Parts: sequence; C-alpha cells; structure tokens
Amino acid sequence: MSDVPSIQLNDGNSIPQLGFGVFQIPPEDTVEATKLALEIGYRHIDTAEMYGNEREVGEAVRASGLDRGDVFVTSKLNNSYHEPDEARAAFERTLSDLGFDHVDLFLIHWPLPTLYDGDFVSTWRTLEAFKADGRARSIGVSNFQVDHLERLAAETDVVPAVNQIELHPYLLNEEVRSYGEEHGIATEAWSPLKQGEVLDDAAIAEIAERVGRTPAQVVLRWHLQRGSIVFPKSTTPERMRENFELFDFELEPGDVERIDDLDRGEAGRNGPHPDQFAYAG
Ligand code: NAD
Repeated sequence: MSDVPSIQLNDGNSIPQLGFGVFQIPPEDTVEATKLALEIGYRHIDTAEMYGNEREVGEAVRASGLDRGDVFVTSKLNNSYHEPDEARAAFERTLSDLGFDHVDLFLIHWPLPTLYDGDFVSTWRTLEAFKADGRARSIGVSNFQVDHLERLAAETDVVPAVNQIELHPYLLNEEVRSYGEEHGIATEAWSPLKQGEVLDDAAIAEIAERVGRTPAQVVLRWHLQRGSIVFPKSTTPERMRENFELFDFELEPGDVERIDDLDRGEAGRNGPHPDQFAYAG
C-alpha cells in the first residue's frame, strides 16, 4: 500500500526512508497517534528511552494488527546509561517496555564527549554485542560528529548503520552528512522541519505555491531527494497525512539547490551542539 522507498543500510538491512517521530508526544497520546500513523501507511517509528513512550509505541504496533516484521522500530540508549553494564540493563528495559524481542535499529542517543571520560567506544562495543545476538537488527549512533565517527572507525569493528543528526534547510550539517556518505553511514535528519520554523521561509513558501504543495511537503521532499531518512512529528491527523504524501511529485534540481542555499550553518542549529551537550540526568 505504501510507495515509501527503502534505503539499504551497510549491514544489508533496509529502512523505510520516511517514518513517524514520537519525540514530545506525551505517553497518553502516543498509542492513538502511532496507531493513526500506521493506518495512514507509515511503517517506521522513531522513539527513544528519553521520550518516555516506548511502552505506548509497542502497544500501538500490536494494536495495529500489522505483523511485527512489517514495522521498523528504532529506539535509543539514554544518556545516563553509557557505562556497559548500565547500557545492557537499559537495552533490556527498552525491549521489555516495547514488548518486543528485538528492535530494528538501536542508537547511542548522544556521544557525550565530556562525560564518562569521553568513552563512547565501550558503549558502542556494547551495542555491537546487541547486534551480534540479534536483539538489535541494526545499530547506529545519533549526534555523532566526524571526530567521534573517526574514533569508532579506528577502535571498533562495526561501522554504524546510521547517524541521526539535526538537519534541515537552516542547518545542512554538511561535514557530518558527507562523512556518512563517504563511509556508508546513512544520514537520518532529525527535526526535519526545524520543529515548524522553516515552514514560514519565503523561498520555501514560493516553491510550495508554484508546485501546488504545502511548505512541509516541499521540505520533506527536499530531504528525500537529498537521500536523507526523515520522520517528521505531528499529532494533527491532516498534517500526518500531508507529511506522508510525498511520492507523487518531485522538486526540480534548481529548487533543491535554492533550499540548500538557505543554510545558516551553526546559527541555524536548534538543539544543543553535540560536542557540548552533557545532560545525563
Ligand atoms: P519536526 O521538524 O518533525 O517538527 C515537528 C513540528 O513541526 C510539529 O510539532 C508541528 O509543530 C510542525 N509540523 C509538523 N508537520 C507539519 C505540517 N504538515 N504543517 C505544519 N506544521 C507541521 O521536529 P521534531 O519532532 O523535533 O523531529 C522529528 C523527530 O526527530 C522526533 O520526533 C524524533 O523522533 C527525532 N529527533 C531526534 C533527536 C535526536 O537527538 N536524535 C532530536 C530531536 C528529534
């Protein structure tokens, strides 16, 4: 039923290029929102221990009546649990809260280079074991900078399947994205709409008007044409449908470049810088 393309990951698994993100959806709204997303046709859900709604995501997948194998579910290791024993216990809690025997993708949420003596390497080795025992079909990272990825490449065996980073028209994050492209690490773009902020941009509005689409559809289509994986968040049914209707139009290369030119570099960043972010509460 869905025209969503899949991206092949470096370990041979594949991931739907468009998914549904559940950050900031309160647990009491998550079952309904996720069930609706699955009804609309989304087959990829992005959650995290930090979001506090893994239990509800699992419940929605079961309530949807879909086979578990037809839904790609990602979760992430929270910042308090980088130490290997803690990471193992946290991963078990994630599986038990989801009610699954495996996740499709498990990520280190933040590198935290100023905490744990900067040791995200032993954390990554712990995730390597989750992949080896099959409880995480694929493993990856989030918010890793180039030097963090280089360190993993030098000191560990498995290349992350994905790096989930802040990326939208005001922050192209090009150095990190292109390192991923060169090294077989798929880029997932978080806050693909900059939490709605880029939708008021005049250039995006002009393109949307001309192609007869909404600004959100134009921005999400731009991400897809640049090869990124996206999972916009909304709990408004019309917007959730709108964000899924991206496969019956295409942006001209000139419009893709025009949106590329909106990059503001660091000034466009919404979230914390990964080198400085040190919250592990
Ligand atoms: P987003 O860019 O997806 O923006 C969501 C907001 O945009 C909505 O709350 C709504 O206000 C607006 N919006 C959505 N669709 C719209 C539409 N069609 N028309 C008008 N407005 C619309 O931001 P996000 O939720 O921060 O990011 C998406 C997902 O990325 C999250 O749910 C989460 O899964 C992931 N994420 C990961 C990290 C990380 O550190 N790894 C950080 C933030 C987000």
